Amino acid sequence: MHCPFCRHPDSRVVDTRSSDDGLSIRRRRQCPKCDRRFTTTESASLLVVKRSGVVEPFSRDKVIEGVKKACQGRPVTDADLATVAQSVEEAIRATGVSQIDANDIGLAVLPPLRELDEVAYLRFASVYQAFESLEDFESAIEGLRRDHETQGAAE
Ligand SMILES: [Zn+2]
Repeated sequence: MHCPFCRHPDSRVVDTRSSDDGLSIRRRRQCPKCDRRFTTTESASLLVVKRSGVVEPFSRDKVIEGVKKACQGRPVTDADLATVAQSVEEAIRATGVSQIDANDIGLAVLPPLRELDEVAYLRFASVYQAFESLEDFESAIEGLRRDHETQGAAE
């Protein structure tokens, strides 16, 4: 989101509000370069279809709630959780869909959570991907190990 005053390419969200009809989101943003504030209005047409068939607007807070449980006892801050939720929303919006299954949100959580904390990632994955046995954990851990080795080799 470019600053409309100095065209700085980045901005910080200082306040987020849903409109009364829930169809748009107004964000107060502040430019880190010139410190001026401006407001953007974004479409809130990202809907979540729950298993029960109920449709509700996408909520970062709910993503955070879901991820928080997996992060218990881990060195993860509220800011980290907010970053994960933001990545999830951006990843979903980038696909251009206006509606997503609640279960697919869980899958969108996995990549940023994996970046953040691998133990929390395994906990979360075990729930969302319905791990049923030790083998499921072993193959997920094996996947992490393989990536470590590839990363190590690339350095
Ligand atoms: Zn600016």
